[in-house]
Amino acid sequence: MTYDYLLRLLTDNHNRPITYLRLAVTDRCNLRCFYCMPEEGIDWLGRKELMSYEEMVRICAVLAANGVNKIRITGGEPFVRKDIMSLLSTLAATPGVDELTLTTNGILTASYIPELKRLGIRSVNLSLDTLDRNRFFAITRRDELPAVLHTMETLLAHGIQVKINAVVMDGRNTQDIADLVALTRDLPVSMRFIEEMPFNGTGELRPLLWDHLKILEAIRAAYPGIQKAADPAHSTSFNYQIPGHKGDVGIIAAYTRSFCGTCNRIRITPQGMLKTCLYDGGVVNLRDLLRSGATDAQLLATLQDAISHRARNGHEAEQNATHESMAAIGG
Ligand code: SAM
Ligand code: SF4
Repeated sequence: MTYDYLLRLLTDNHNRPITYLRLAVTDRCNLRCFYCMPEEGIDWLGRKELMSYEEMVRICAVLAANGVNKIRITGGEPFVRKDIMSLLSTLAATPGVDELTLTTNGILTASYIPELKRLGIRSVNLSLDTLDRNRFFAITRRDELPAVLHTMETLLAHGIQVKINAVVMDGRNTQDIADLVALTRDLPVSMRFIEEMPFNGTGELRPLLWDHLKILEAIRAAYPGIQKAADPAHSTSFNYQIPGHKGDVGIIAAYTRSFCGTCNRIRITPQGMLKTCLYDGGVVNLRDLLRSGATDAQLLATLQDAISHRARNGHEAEQNATHESMAAIGG
């Protein structure tokens, strides 16, 4: 038996193995969610600033050969980037990638679902903050709720696990919490409520009025029988089950940052910036490194160096960072 796979694990300076990459493939989006970007959008990246698919695949292959076995494709909206299925299909076949998944707003997604299934994608995160069409429009500034619901139904019909992400915002959708939880009664979905983070692309820092405790209180008021469920290793959510419901409920303390101690993830932005924490400002530009002619060995050495200087938690990482739009980070 050989143990060389252990030597290839990327482990940070706080002894946390890095096994999960979140790769943002574009900053562009067909929605304008109030908590993510201003109505006019953000200063979109030019084509040359974006990493090419070839560059992404090269970085992913080096990471996957060194212990990163899960990749999530995100954005911006992944399906607004041209030919996204070719990237997904290459990554699905990359040695070492055991789990390929994606986060989408669900607007353009439905027609790709049979192909996602064929590629072996088992789970998709779908963003949905309300089931009320008017409030959906108020939050996302687009009238697209029916398309998102159609995507949810199509994913379930294809046997793909659905995790629904809802950002909880005071005065915007807190009245929807109980209705969103009600989805779990008849549908096998994981309904996850997320604390709003300060990444709205405006620089405005809103106080967190709905933390994970207050969200739980609101759910418990509607479902007094809610029970704590197990939190799997590296889970970012506090998980709950309501007796008799097919699905489950999670609360993600993304602002409070209670999960940093077991964080196994890194992020790469659409322009190739490596972030070893969601809250840091980016530690090294991998696109520039590749374009300067770096070999795979140099790329790996750069990744190892960055990972060995990782902040202990999001509060420490945030010290020298500015807050941009979540679409430029990937969530
Ligand atoms: N466009 C895709 C979508 O919305 O699913 C993928 C990218 S989006 C940036 C990824 C996730 O980040 C979404 O679930 C979204 O709700 C979440 N997100 C965006 N801005 C956020 C914020 N300020 N606080 C908390 N979550 C946020
Ligand atoms: Fe677009 Fe996703 Fe940001 Fe909404 S959260 S604006 S869907 S990138």
